[in-house]
Amino acid sequence: MDFRATPEQQAIQAAVRDLCAKYPDAYWRDLDRRSAYPDEFVRALTDAGWLAALIPAEYGGAGLGMAEASVILEEINTSGGNAASAHAQMYTMGTLLRHGSAAQKERILPRLAKGDLRLQAFGVTEAEAGSETTRIKTFARRDGDRYVVNGKKIFISRTLQSDLLLLLARTTPYEELTDKTQGLSVFLVDLKAAVAAGTVKISPIETMLNHHTTELFIDGLVLRPADLVGTEGQGFRHIIDSWNAERILIASESLGDGRWFVERAARYASERIVFGRPIGANQGVQFPIAQAHAQLVAAGLVRDKAAWLFDHGEPCGDEANTAKLLASQAAWAAGNAAMDAFGGYAYAKEFDIERKFRETRLFLTAPVSNNLVLAYIAEHVLGLPRSY
Ligand SMILES: Cc1cc2nc3c(=O)[nH]c(=O)nc-3n(C[C@H](O)[C@H](O)[C@H](O)COP(=O)(O)OP(=O)(O)OC[C@H]3O[C@@H](n4cnc5c(N)ncnc54)[C@H](O)[C@@H]3O)c2cc1C
Repeated sequence: MDFRATPEQQAIQAAVRDLCAKYPDAYWRDLDRRSAYPDEFVRALTDAGWLAALIPAEYGGAGLGMAEASVILEEINTSGGNAASAHAQMYTMGTLLRHGSAAQKERILPRLAKGDLRLQAFGVTEAEAGSETTRIKTFARRDGDRYVVNGKKIFISRTLQSDLLLLLARTTPYEELTDKTQGLSVFLVDLKAAVAAGTVKISPIETMLNHHTTELFIDGLVLRPADLVGTEGQGFRHIIDSWNAERILIASESLGDGRWFVERAARYASERIVFGRPIGANQGVQFPIAQAHAQLVAAGLVRDKAAWLFDHGEPCGDEANTAKLLASQAAWAAGNAAMDAFGGYAYAKEFDIERKFRETRLFLTAPVSNNLVLAYIAEHVLGLPRSY
């Protein structure tokens, strides 16, 4: 067992760190204040080829693995940035890569790799279905050689910044199915054209963090069979295939946040003098930071194993879910340790702790809540009775 990062992974980490150094705390703080999208940062990541990390070389990407993608995202968040726009493109593209037709891949992937197109929006969630994805109602009705889509989506992020949307819609009524995981299909939607045609309306949702999430109103959106990704009716299976990747990438961002919190908290606690000594000399301050560090190290090992299994084509549902669970919890513990160490200053925006604290809280809930992750481990790994 070799726990060392490969020379290539070390080089990626160093290069991403250098890139991120040009986007310091003040950059992210300003975006957060304005609820603005990190356009300049995404452009720099694209130009450096990092957003195309998982796109195979034959389509103009870097052809790297999940382990390297994890290094990229973790480093972005460790630097104090937010990798949401990067992870979205990486895992959304995975469904297209695995299930898209040769024509779709040839048409889209090289343009994604170059940065001419953005595919950063994944439309799954609906208000009435919530975590029960098989209950979604947005319907793509086949009408001759086209589909006509109607429905509503909620919390769909980056639709205003993305050219393309990967959309999950129902193609068979729920009541007509014996296997409820069938009857859903994935489509690639030209968002800009749909918005221009008035068949998709986008309404931003204000959230506690800078996340560009929106509500979609879909009314008579016309799609062609060529827009269908994979097999009609197998869409749920197709998106499940990308869930392990998503969990590993989210674990990586969580680890990055956690490491940022621990580094900031340890530094501040070593420098801040109260009662004539550094506050970090008090075990009440240092233990939560040390505890969070230990949690991060453990979660990092599970994330590394999950990424290794993924890259070797091995089943990794257990490890990917466990990594997401432990890393998001470790980041949250680190966030709380930092909030406590910084005292009142944690609430002052100029220290960035409260911003990161809001950002890292999301990982406990989205893109999948930890309850559902625990249900997966309990029911699919341990064989406990199904709760749903
Ligand atoms: C900022 C943000 C960005 C998002 N971006 C996207 C996006 O780009 N695309 C997209 O499709 N979605 C997106 N989402 C949606 C996100 O994936 C969902 O919010 C999340 O999966 C939880 O679904 P819900 O909010 O409907 O919660 P619900 O399903 O209503 O659940 C509420 C609570 O009940 C718990 N619960 C529900 N059922 C069970 C059960 N059987 N056992 C135990 N506990 C249960 C949940 O764990 C949760 O804690 C985003 C959400 C947010 C907040």
